[in-house]
Amino acid sequence: MSTEKPILQSNYLDFLKERRLMGSKCKTCGQVDLPPRPICSKCLSPDVGWIDLTGQNGTLTTFSCVHVGTRKFEERGYSAKNPYAFGVVTLDNGPAITALLQGVDPKKPETIKIGMKLKLKFVETQTPAGPQVDVGFEPV
Ligand SMILES: [Zn+2]
Repeated sequence: MSTEKPILQSNYLDFLKERRLMGSKCKTCGQVDLPPRPICSKCLSPDVGWIDLTGQNGTLTTFSCVHVGTRKFEERGYSAKNPYAFGVVTLDNGPAITALLQGVDPKKPETIKIGMKLKLKFVETQTPAGPQVDVGFEPV
């Protein structure tokens, strides 16, 4: 897909299906937003373009282990007996994103550490509407 596509959530999700994590970067002040925004969150300039963040590592800023999730997560097999971990990951170049945490034990939250280094790991799930790709991170 061309990076000349308009900065829309639908195009962001299409990039995820291609295993690309794309944010927006302001051409006026350099602010990077993730998920991407058509208007800069810092200076409100509409002069923004795509930036590929696929290779970025990050740091765990906060997290939660979810035992009672949404129907979407119940359909994936998560439950009180099979919880999942969800967190905010701050990428090395600034933006933060909520993501599924992989490679950690949600049944032992004391083993998950704020500040731990993480790397991107896309999570693909089969849904009635077809495969869905979500942003995930796992320990480096
Ligand atoms: Zn800006």
